[in-house]
Amino acid sequence: MMGSRLRPRLVVDNERCDLCGLCEELCPSDAIRIEGRVLFDPEKCLACYGCVAICPHKALRLEVEVVDATSLLNRCRATSLDRYFKR
Ligand code: SF4
Ligand code: SF4
Repeated sequence: MMGSRLRPRLVVDNERCDLCGLCEELCPSDAIRIEGRVLFDPEKCLACYGCVAICPHKALRLEVEVVDATSLLNRCRATSLDRYFKR
């Protein structure tokens, strides 16, 4: 069973954010909602960094923690990257 591998955290600088809504509009997975402030759902986030890139005020920072490195490693081993592990 594949567990969650990435745990994203969106850090908002409220001093910079003017609630323009661009990040909410752009987010492909509806992980952001603007309701008087930027609300973030880490379960929906794909960690694409689109919101960080589009924010005109550089108000967003995305921190992504790998919480299941074993499953990532197993996936790498199952691909052509395998040869790098065998050196
Ligand atoms: S794009 Fe930036 S300024 Fe606009 S709502 Fe999102 S965080 Fe705030
Ligand atoms: S990183 Fe991508 S998926 Fe996650 S909140 Fe930002 S735009 Fe949405």
